[in-house]
Amino acid sequence: MEKQNVPELFGSLVFDDKVMRARLSDDVYSSLRKTIDENVKLDETIADAIAKEMKDWAIENGATHFTHWFQPLTGVTAEKHDSFITPSPDGGVLMEFSGKELIKGEPDASSFPSGGLRATFEARGYTAWDPTSYAFIKDHTLCIPTAFCSYSGEALDKKTPLLRSMQAINREAKRILKLFGNDDVKYVRTSVGPEQEYFLVDKDVFNKRPDLVYTGRTLFGAMPPKGQELDDHYFGVIKPRVSDFMEDLNDELWKLGILAKTEHNEVAPAQHELAPIYSTTNIATDANQLTMEIMKKVASRHDMVCLLHEKPFAGVNGSGKHNNWSIATDTGINLLSPGKTPYENAQFLLFLCAVIQAVDDYQDLLRLSVATAGNDHRLGANEAPPAIISIFLGDELSAILDAIKNDTVYEGMEDTKIKLGVHSLPRFSRDTTDRNRTSPFAFTGNKFEFRSLGSANSIACCNIMLNAAVAESLNQYANELEKADNFEDALHELIKRVITEHQRILFDGNGYSDEWVKEATEVRGLSNLKTTADAMPKLLDKKNVEMLIKHKVFNEAEIQSRCEIMLENYVKTINIEGLTMVDMVRKNYLPAIERYLYRLAQTTSLMKSVSSNVKCNYEVSTMERLSELTDHILESVTELEESLAKFKELEDVFKSSAFVRDDMLPKMETLRTYVDEAEMLTSERDWPFPSYGELLFSV
Ligand code: ADP
Ligand code: MG
Repeated sequence: MEKQNVPELFGSLVFDDKVMRARLSDDVYSSLRKTIDENVKLDETIADAIAKEMKDWAIENGATHFTHWFQPLTGVTAEKHDSFITPSPDGGVLMEFSGKELIKGEPDASSFPSGGLRATFEARGYTAWDPTSYAFIKDHTLCIPTAFCSYSGEALDKKTPLLRSMQAINREAKRILKLFGNDDVKYVRTSVGPEQEYFLVDKDVFNKRPDLVYTGRTLFGAMPPKGQELDDHYFGVIKPRVSDFMEDLNDELWKLGILAKTEHNEVAPAQHELAPIYSTTNIATDANQLTMEIMKKVASRHDMVCLLHEKPFAGVNGSGKHNNWSIATDTGINLLSPGKTPYENAQFLLFLCAVIQAVDDYQDLLRLSVATAGNDHRLGANEAPPAIISIFLGDELSAILDAIKNDTVYEGMEDTKIKLGVHSLPRFSRDTTDRNRTSPFAFTGNKFEFRSLGSANSIACCNIMLNAAVAESLNQYANELEKADNFEDALHELIKRVITEHQRILFDGNGYSDEWVKEATEVRGLSNLKTTADAMPKLLDKKNVEMLIKHKVFNEAEIQSRCEIMLENYVKTINIEGLTMVDMVRKNYLPAIERYLYRLAQTTSLMKSVSSNVKCNYEVSTMERLSELTDHILESVTELEESLAKFKELEDVFKSSAFVRDDMLPKMETLRTYVDEAEMLTSERDWPFPSYGELLFSV
């Protein structure tokens, strides 16, 4: 097949601005554009006209169905397909799609998690069109990005609170910008570029591992002789099978208008990364969900499986997702970019302070926004940022903040103290801002990079918290500065105060070191929420609930329900892992070891019957240790079964999540250790599942 050229391919399956402008009447187009750009409520009288053009365009591009595409709290996306057909009077069918169908859908919501919301509120849910994220065609279906709510208005998805958090930061940032005389700004938006890591394994090998099939990660497996020690995979030459996959993936993503940009091998064998060009947060979120889905689909076409789990292989680098985040105006100013004039510098410093304060005040919200059973395996392990949240600013910016805080001279500048609004900041080079890869939250020149996300996380969650927390800082600053008699003096004092009060969150050192954990928790009083069971209940802390309600990001019932859903998800995930382990041990590992022991025993007695001189050292010592291990395995699997049985009795999700953390996970860990040791002693022929080596070098 001849390759289409990229500009032609790009966005060819998206009902984007170009298509809208070409197909909609001028009035309809400019009204819709106002809704998209300025968040003006959609004029429902134009919905029919848009629906008709959308449908005609979709049919021309091969679609037969439409769906309201949404992101329920399960973490994956959901869709229910309806075809466009309606019976026509002559007995045939017409292809129809009304404005009403575009704006609102009523999926049967009952099987999506709602954490008690449905019991308290109206049972049915509805989906509402999000016109700011373009409709697209996937599998002959017109997909309409939507928000998903209950009839009483409670959000049942991740998009609704994300949009609300974007409104909050827009509102508060505009107040600040006004104070700096930027009256022409119509809106402020946050942008995100998520870098996505993943593994590729051969489909046949994958299918032989029940743990991968059921849980997405390996629950057993001894380390292969060669792992990532040589660092020869990172940025290495991409294998032909993988590059074919990447090429195909890019085509699919480009058609959907997703700006897939860079791809390279990652640290671990079989690990790769894809980074898109950044876009507005809700669009980037939709795009990232689609990217993950399409990665899996395209991998399957190439007889591979794409693993998005955060830690598919113990002892091998896990997969994360970096959330590159910035705030910008519609007039093209990146508020996290230092700018050129002293005034821009002062404005930049205030927004920088807003982020610093937000991350300090709401460390726990950021931490819990990325907490899942899978990501718990990464955070705090020596490869991903620790579960402690801190900010890296780099030497130059740190020195500037120090100079402001202490009223001292900054050496990079003329021999004078920094006066905001008067002096220009020196330009910092990118190098000085991007060296420390161990920081969970790093300033990288004109954006912040939040690195604690796991590869499978929806980026909606952390951006909801980040936007809301920064909106709160900005709200406090606006309240204070709007009252000030002398704006510049008040600004200087405010910035100085914020830097002083939130100094503890700034840390440029090695985030992976044990000393940091000690200093962070014991000296600085930062929180270290190691597991989902520790982190998630913090959502209900008074200060968090108050802030989220104040900015209308969640209401109280939504917060409560989300906390429960996330904890449920955690305990269910680990419960399935525990059950899978029992299944594999009882049905496969123990019988396999027994088979090998039988062969060893037979060999030994046969050999000894032939000659009394043979010692059979290898056979006997292996048998002895394997037999001991068999006993240990039996004992640990029995304990795990007991734990699984106790777990079933627990009803309260807060109790069961603590139980899973304290009882079930350690038992799973112990069981694994014995099985992995047995793997090293058992003949490969008898071992029932492909080894780590086979998995990691399968493609
Ligand atoms: P790396 O982190 O690998 O060095 P870059 O910093 O170039 O790579 O980009 C990483 C991601 O950050 C990309 O997805 C990129 O589009 C995104 N990005 C770049 N600038 C911004 C910005 N101002 N706001 C948000 N994301 C950005
Ligand atoms: Mg990065």
